[in-house]
Amino acid sequence: MKYRIDLISDTSTRPSAGMLAAMAEAETGDEQRGEDPTTLALCAEVARMLGMEDAIFLPSGTMCNQIAFLVHCRPGDEILAAGNSHIFRSEGAGAAALASAQIATIPTDSGIFTAEDVTARLRAPRDRAPVSRLISVEQTTNSGGGAIWPLDVLAELRDLAAKEGLILHMDGARLMNAAVGADVPAVDFCQGFESAWIDLSKGLGCPVGAVLAGSHEFIRRAWVWKHRLGGAMRQSGVLAAAGLYALAYNLPRLEEDHAKARRFTDLLQGAQGLVASPRTPETNIAFVDVSASGQTTAQIAATLAQQGIRLNAEGPERFRVVTHLDVTLAEVEEAAAALITATRS
Ligand SMILES: *Cc1c(COP(=O)(O)O)cnc(C)c1O
Repeated sequence: MKYRIDLISDTSTRPSAGMLAAMAEAETGDEQRGEDPTTLALCAEVARMLGMEDAIFLPSGTMCNQIAFLVHCRPGDEILAAGNSHIFRSEGAGAAALASAQIATIPTDSGIFTAEDVTARLRAPRDRAPVSRLISVEQTTNSGGGAIWPLDVLAELRDLAAKEGLILHMDGARLMNAAVGADVPAVDFCQGFESAWIDLSKGLGCPVGAVLAGSHEFIRRAWVWKHRLGGAMRQSGVLAAAGLYALAYNLPRLEEDHAKARRFTDLLQGAQGLVASPRTPETNIAFVDVSASGQTTAQIAATLAQQGIRLNAEGPERFRVVTHLDVTLAEVEEAAAALITATRS
């Protein structure tokens, strides 16, 4: 079924005419041999933006996370992450299945946790204890409603990591939304992180791709895993060109997506049976609790589907709404109005 207004995810975009033209004109070579000039240019640009020495182009954000864990962790290590993090909930237990590391979860609604939360979970070194190895930060928090980790919270994590010898890794699927939303350069968010990545296929509007950045040594080791996992490519410049286009044209416009998310929750204010959270989204994600409406998300989704509108039902009580460049402000307003009407019926 084709939806007219698809707010299920910021992956629901198609490459624009400008992006397709950039892809068609891309200079290419064999990426696996390090000979694809466009991929090299994309990696250099992302490394620069994140303040890292080097970067590697990968098919997906999930592969960025998993390769980072494979490089950083040894079997029996423990990764500290939010209980609602993507790495814990949505990557097929990859940390366990691939890196033989376990994830210790920190309960948090917003997806943000503090140095104190981490300290409470650090393991004393004992033969029978897992080795606390790595802290994973999701910027912005997906299941936390697109919340932005503030710089001072990250600074405390950095101090703790330095003191305890822990590695900081950033799942930056929406790091650029954070940078735009907080008006903070991405490089500032990445201070003290040994690895960080951005997704090109979310708000940046590319059809595929993600870029993982770190030190020269980290990236050298990441390349070994990229080969092993089948992530090495050939004429990937066609895809990298989309990424370079996105950084030039789609990055500066992310604030429009944030404004659309704020507009959506504004319109739901006072609507019976609907509670939006956060009340004012910091970036492009919001949740709507429909439990007081007397209907389930499935019932409401069916009504909306008849109008060509799609929201993401996360269980029977809650929708996730994500704005992106292929939905206009007017369409977001229409979706909010349709949601209000649907819950009244
Ligand atoms: C989408 C997402 C990922 C995975 O990225 P893919 O490119 O879809 O593999 C990881 N973390 C977060 C927070 C995400 O939203």
